[in-house]
Amino acid sequence: MNGDEKKYVEEAFLSNWIAPVGPHIDAFESEFASYLGVKGAVAVSSGTAAIHLALSLLEIGRGDKVFCSTLTFVASANPILYLGGEPIFIDSDYESWNMSPIALERALIDANNRNDLPKAVIVVHLYGQNAKMDEIMCLCRQYEIPVIEDSAESLGSLYKGIKSGSMGELGIFSFNGNKIITTSGGGMLVSNQKKFLEKAKFLASQAKDVASYYQHSQMGYNYRMSNILAGVGRAQLKVLEERIFLRRNVFRLYKKALETINGVSFMPEYTGSESTRWLTVLLIDKEICERSAAEMVESFNNHAIEARAVWKPLHLQPLFKGTQYYSHLPGKHVAEDLFKQGICLPSGSNLSLNDQKTVIEHFRQCVNHSFGQEAVI
Ligand SMILES: *Cc1c(COP(=O)(O)O)cnc(C)c1O
Repeated sequence: MNGDEKKYVEEAFLSNWIAPVGPHIDAFESEFASYLGVKGAVAVSSGTAAIHLALSLLEIGRGDKVFCSTLTFVASANPILYLGGEPIFIDSDYESWNMSPIALERALIDANNRNDLPKAVIVVHLYGQNAKMDEIMCLCRQYEIPVIEDSAESLGSLYKGIKSGSMGELGIFSFNGNKIITTSGGGMLVSNQKKFLEKAKFLASQAKDVASYYQHSQMGYNYRMSNILAGVGRAQLKVLEERIFLRRNVFRLYKKALETINGVSFMPEYTGSESTRWLTVLLIDKEICERSAAEMVESFNNHAIEARAVWKPLHLQPLFKGTQYYSHLPGKHVAEDLFKQGICLPSGSNLSLNDQKTVIEHFRQCVNHSFGQEAVI
């Protein structure tokens, strides 16, 4: 928390707006939409709820195909299952680590030949960096398939100067505790289309018909954000830019200290991409470092340093066994490579310099025998 949260929460208490309606919600939605440069936003109870609503707005139902990035958190794809849809997973490419336009094109051509095009494509922007949206949007426009941007990890990042989450038909964000800004739990759905925004609010509040009594013609959800948490969100939004600056600094220091080690490479930031570096993620070449990423994570955790593995691709998850998947190139499985070699380092906006030095020292000790030229920090 950063300071103003208490003031906004107190306002909610004083005005007695302790409900999933109230002035903070309206203000948070309009402030968020204007930050992003979109027509409107709908504050909801989680990022997962926002994806569920987005798919509902696109009328995904039983048996409908939905393409989704394979390298992501399971929350990106679970809502496809809620609706009885069938995910088809798309691999990453090496430049962005996100959805490979080459794999997407192959999947679309195949689906078109089968006369079974997907009803939506969920593009995930991982670890603060956007997917190659020009290529992806161009392909999806060609086949007239709506795009949902899962920007849960990329709030504030830019793609060719445009904010993440504002490029597709719908965008979703998360304010879970681990995200760059948080309301402890919460999410946001954004769009430039008024019909989507109105329908999302309707569905998120139990789909109540306009009537003087309780009448319902459609199935709805209880997905609205509370006015108290929206107050927290408003204060957090004010410190977003500062946090992006801090996270990029955390990344810069790690990179400077570790990039000279043979066999270590950092998540790239490709031309046109401006990542928030929500997390600093790097790859370990097991052959050169004589340590696997999994061994490194374990060693960190044994030393009370919270390092994490990269997301396990969804097409490898037992939950999605037998699900169709398109690799980057035939025989070239990028997400699997990134999963095997990737480590997320502690990257909090409030990570102290001393703590970061401890992480760096431990990292160096782990790959001791494979030192390149030592960098000074
Ligand atoms: C965190 C996250 C979500 C889910 O957000 P919740 O608010 O936790 O439901 C969805 N997609 C990705 C990529 C995430 O990292």
